[in-house]
Amino acid sequence: MGKSSKDKRDIFYRKAKEEGWRARSAYKLLQIDEAFDIFSGVAHAVDLCAAPGSWSQVLSRKLYLPAVRSGSPSPPTIVAVDLQPMAPIEGVIQLQGDITSEVTAKQVISHFDGQPADLVVCDGAPDVTGLHDLDEYVQAQLLLAALSIVCAVLRPGGTFVAKIFRGKDVALLYSQLKLLFPEVYVAKPKSSRNSSIEAFVVGRRFDPPEALAGPGGLQSLLAGAQERLFSDNGDQEAQLLVARAVPFLSCGDLAGGDADRTYDLDPETYVPLEPVQPPTAPNYKTAIALVKGGQLQ
Ligand code: SAM
Repeated sequence: MGKSSKDKRDIFYRKAKEEGWRARSAYKLLQIDEAFDIFSGVAHAVDLCAAPGSWSQVLSRKLYLPAVRSGSPSPPTIVAVDLQPMAPIEGVIQLQGDITSEVTAKQVISHFDGQPADLVVCDGAPDVTGLHDLDEYVQAQLLLAALSIVCAVLRPGGTFVAKIFRGKDVALLYSQLKLLFPEVYVAKPKSSRNSSIEAFVVGRRFDPPEALAGPGGLQSLLAGAQERLFSDNGDQEAQLLVARAVPFLSCGDLAGGDADRTYDLDPETYVPLEPVQPPTAPNYKTAIALVKGGQLQ
């Protein structure tokens, strides 16, 4: 697909290039903030599954740069982590690693010793296979890894935002989140296509239960929720009740553009823009190297 046809098909893709965001995903976090004011009172933050880095850019622009400009003696700590390398972002400490591994989790946690995070965001997504059950399962594993990190770094009262796939087991995720956050919402930003099952959970007022403190605390807490919800051979009524107890909010300005619509571009004024940050380690680099080495036709 050429640049202009993608620009035409996707208003947020074009807008992101105009406004200097590395990815259209930036608008998802910005629109979640419009509805939930997630940056209010926040200094320290973690961005899990952060590449190419548009959410980290949002954190840098909303938290780090204003603090530095106002001469704050202790600027915010912002840590971003992803499997992929990322180009640098002002005020963001970058780690490359797998958030489901203990080593990476410990690296993230080490930056918040004595100064817990106020906000943890996670836009993690596996490479989608199209097999919905598998994709949903891997996504849920990412969320669980994110929650382990949350339990180690987030201050009581803090906020957690994470991407989920609204599949058939979503009630279980909600009930597990409810064990940690008294307020749980599901947000669907206007910049997220309606055709996509992705949505974002927003957990507020982090309230870690005492059971978390023991060894394997989080795992047994979450397993307990699973036991309760799926006892009696899968109590569908209980699942429905949980799902209904989590308010759903569509967020983002109605006039801000529709992610599912195609917009005409004015051929007189339209200027194609280059990506804000070309990929640092795209898969096609390997293919090009193989072709150059005569190993691939
Ligand atoms: N929020 C990002 C932004 O605004 O630029 C976009 C994130 S992208 C939708 C999903 C990211 O999740 C990918 O960069 C992928 O590498 C990362 N990811 C998937 N599984 C991961 C894992 N186990 N550990 C760390 N990152 C992971």
